Amino acid sequence: MPLIVDQLRKTYGDTEVVRGISFTLQAGECFALLGPNGAGKTTTLRCVLGHTEPSAGHVTLCGRPVPEQAREARARVGVVPQNDSLDPDFTVTENLLVFARYFGIPAATARARVPELLAFAGLEAKADAKVTALSGGMKRRLTMARALVADPDLLIMDEPTTGLDPQARHLIWDRLKGLIAQGKTVLLTTHFMDEAERLAHRIAILDRGQIIAIGTPREVIATHIEPQVVEVFGEWAGHTGGAAAWAQTHAATYSNRHEISGETAFCYVQDAQPLLAHLAQQEGLRILHRPANLEDVFLKLTGREMRDE
Ligand code: ADP
Repeated sequence: MPLIVDQLRKTYGDTEVVRGISFTLQAGECFALLGPNGAGKTTTLRCVLGHTEPSAGHVTLCGRPVPEQAREARARVGVVPQNDSLDPDFTVTENLLVFARYFGIPAATARARVPELLAFAGLEAKADAKVTALSGGMKRRLTMARALVADPDLLIMDEPTTGLDPQARHLIWDRLKGLIAQGKTVLLTTHFMDEAERLAHRIAILDRGQIIAIGTPREVIATHIEPQVVEVFGEWAGHTGGAAAWAQTHAATYSNRHEISGETAFCYVQDAQPLLAHLAQQEGLRILHRPANLEDVFLKLTGREMRDE
């Protein structure tokens, strides 16, 4: 098993920021840690990699106890950190070669791997460009390629698409899907639910240092939330207050649960038909009927208020 995390705890000062987290990764699995800012995702990754010492609990990474044998374990792991730590003084190719040297890969072997890594990153045309000339998406793809230099058993990515535009995100997803299809084991953190739903075989939702939901995206959705959502918005003819006013008077009658956020009422239902039939009689209101998704679960479990941290 590439990773076993057992009852992991981490305290900074008086605050326990990771509070008894357990999960395992099977070989070939993509596992996503989801959570709002400050939930403890990065701290968990730091403990997994042996960059910070847990206050309690056990980590076994690629068969080695961490932090005791973190160095040996890390030799089998490719890491894509949140901030690309590429060397700006070097070209794209040089960045790959320098990194290979850290891993003790012979220069000739590293050089032979460069074309394949450049192709993976879609950076063949930029082989001799300085890193400073790359876009954010290109840098992220280079960092991914760099993490693959030693052909790791496990790839760990901290928020792989944060800060990227939609086109760049899709390219990263394509690359990641390719790696997963090849059978690589991937652990990623993200606060994008669609990213987790698209890529991960299993997810864990973290909040305030604890796992509050774990399983396949389908299992998590089925366990924690009604299967269908009807979003109601717009004006309500003959009434003031639009969808919010409608929700206050009618949503509870037709929904198992509802929430009002801004101008939109989110109605969570086992069976949408009675609600849809009622709404068809209400002029002006607009609706979006869709299956429940991970974002709905996440908002239900962690709340809609902003986490500024
Ligand atoms: P996430 O990655 O989910 O956003 P983090 O693991 O970065 O969460 O942070 C979890 C909590 O731990 C936050 O409250 C953060 O301020 C705190 N924290 C993280 N690193 C340190 C540190 N080195 N010293 C003190 N507090 C820290």
